Amino acid sequence: MIHLLLSRWRQGRRTMPYPKTLPSLPERFRGRPQFSPGACPENCRACADACPTGAIQLEPGPTLDLGRCLFCTECVDACAGAAPGEVLRFTGDHRLAVRNREDLVLGPPQGAEDRPPLAEALGKELMRVLGRSLKLRVVSAGGCNGCEVDVNVLGTVAWDLGRFGIQFVASPRHADGLVICGPVTANMALALRKTYDAVPDPKIVIAVGACAIQGGPYLHQAEQLGGAAAAGLPVDLFIPGCPPHPLTILDGLLRLLGKIR
Ligand code: SF4
Ligand code: SF4
Repeated sequence: MIHLLLSRWRQGRRTMPYPKTLPSLPERFRGRPQFSPGACPENCRACADACPTGAIQLEPGPTLDLGRCLFCTECVDACAGAAPGEVLRFTGDHRLAVRNREDLVLGPPQGAEDRPPLAEALGKELMRVLGRSLKLRVVSAGGCNGCEVDVNVLGTVAWDLGRFGIQFVASPRHADGLVICGPVTANMALALRKTYDAVPDPKIVIAVGACAIQGGPYLHQAEQLGGAAAAGLPVDLFIPGCPPHPLTILDGLLRLLGKIR
């Protein structure tokens, strides 16, 4: 026992001090993608043609739909081969979650003051009910489980989601909302609807990952519905990525609860 206590004492506090300070992210971390305005060669379509999910549109101006993006960097590699300089790149910005689906469609920044849209806090009434204690039921609706793994990481000692009053629960009847991962396969549609109906009002829905937002890499498969919204659920928070980094998920949850702005 004494050895156990000594080892805990030596290890010290293992929970990261986020959001007070940001954890250091590896150099290869892929955050918010960014176009450099006006730098594309004429008639170049290299990035859009390389994208497996149709996330990039070039008309009337270049846009990248984060809700479809797999963060695979195929577009960046194609762009590097077609245009001089870094026209398209991934930044280290982990803050990607938004409240409205259309806010995930990004164009080139219009000047230094052009800030990317970030998730706003819940309305006053929902904040009164859920702001200090939020219980969430995770539904794995047919993806590859990558998103579920990064959601689960938030329960580990390094992230300690419980210190923010957020917990994952086993029963939808004990939950205030759903975290949905996966594109919602036809086989999961009824189970998801029943789980949603079992959550007492008022309730929220959080779509985690490209699959839950719009089908992800399964976008063109007939066996899936194309995400939580397409399955008929009102989504309150969209967290893009494939899978989103735990820091991106936590950032979205804390913004939803007004704990960071
Ligand atoms: S990183 Fe996103 S936008 Fe680029 S090719 Fe992959 S899915 Fe398409
Ligand atoms: S978004 Fe990507 S990581 Fe998440 S379930 Fe779908 S395929 Fe897997």
